[in-house]
Amino acid sequence: MKSIYDLTASELKEELVRMGEKEYRAGQIFSWLHAKGVSHLDGMTDISRDLKGRLAERFSDRGISVSKCQESALDGTRKYLFELEDATLIEGVFMQYRDWNTSCISSQAGCAMGCRFCASTVGGLKRDMTAGEMAQEIYAMERDTGSRVSHVVVMGSGEPLLNYDNLMRFLDIITDSRGKGLSQRNITVSTCGIVPGIEALAREKRGREHLQINLAISLHAAFDEKRKKIMPIAERYGISEVLDAARKYYDATHRRITIEYALIDGVNDTDEDAAELARILKKTFFTSSSGSLPLINLIPVNPVTESGFKRPDRAGCLAFKNKLENFGINGSIRRELGSDIDGACGQLRLKSL
Ligand code: SF4
Repeated sequence: MKSIYDLTASELKEELVRMGEKEYRAGQIFSWLHAKGVSHLDGMTDISRDLKGRLAERFSDRGISVSKCQESALDGTRKYLFELEDATLIEGVFMQYRDWNTSCISSQAGCAMGCRFCASTVGGLKRDMTAGEMAQEIYAMERDTGSRVSHVVVMGSGEPLLNYDNLMRFLDIITDSRGKGLSQRNITVSTCGIVPGIEALAREKRGREHLQINLAISLHAAFDEKRKKIMPIAERYGISEVLDAARKYYDATHRRITIEYALIDGVNDTDEDAAELARILKKTFFTSSSGSLPLINLIPVNPVTESGFKRPDRAGCLAFKNKLENFGINGSIRRELGSDIDGACGQLRLKSL
């Protein structure tokens, strides 16, 4: 049975009109689902019992449930293990910053991409998540913490651009002002470099406007041969193809690209790596006519038992950042949140499989 959380506002309106209801009911129900974050039809206090019963005959209203939650004693980060309607387990993370809260959400249960440093891929891909399931990760975190989420990063388990239609539907639902009303500019989608997906994002329009979401590219290496050893997707798409696609997204949207770079001790943190990374980014993004260099997000790799990778120490991370800066590229070392609670993507779920 289809979930009522998967319907856009206009689909909900069409459905209610088909059921002989007034159009404004759709606005009320959409608001209950996506603004007030109700977890069941029963919680909609101004909707008649009769209408709720008829909706329940057509749609599932089961929200996702919290199976486990670990809270960091260091910074209040909460890592969730959620159970979906079919008992599939996925992860999400709630992060507190000084002025806002961010949800890091999953877009697939598991992942087929096989990145060697990532625990999410260890059991392979179980299934795509629906738009409603992605949205409910945010609402479940808001209910549990009592705090509003204003920023979303689609960086949990899964490759969002391989679940493209559900991702677009999710964006439409959570940016709808009749519901959660998130700003596109507060949403970041991270990809391991699915070139057709990035190009599709660059073409995507709402009305006459291009998307305004932020795009993060998980690059993690400056040389194709090294990247292939870390990320199997590199066998399919070369670094220059991935960066060219990202440049198309930048040209269409003028949203600055972020490059994610997991620092792995002795693997991708040498002087040559820094020099090549700077060279390819300048070549792609800094043309004489226009351009804006991406921001580099340096992430000391999370030690996942299966990978055997080690992170450089703090001095090593700073040294790589300085090398990039000497080449005119600004990077920041990602602040680690929840380092005491299985903070790495996929680790909590992995322990529950
Ligand atoms: S890093 Fe992302 S794309 Fe790569 S295996 Fe993990 S979840 Fe999948």
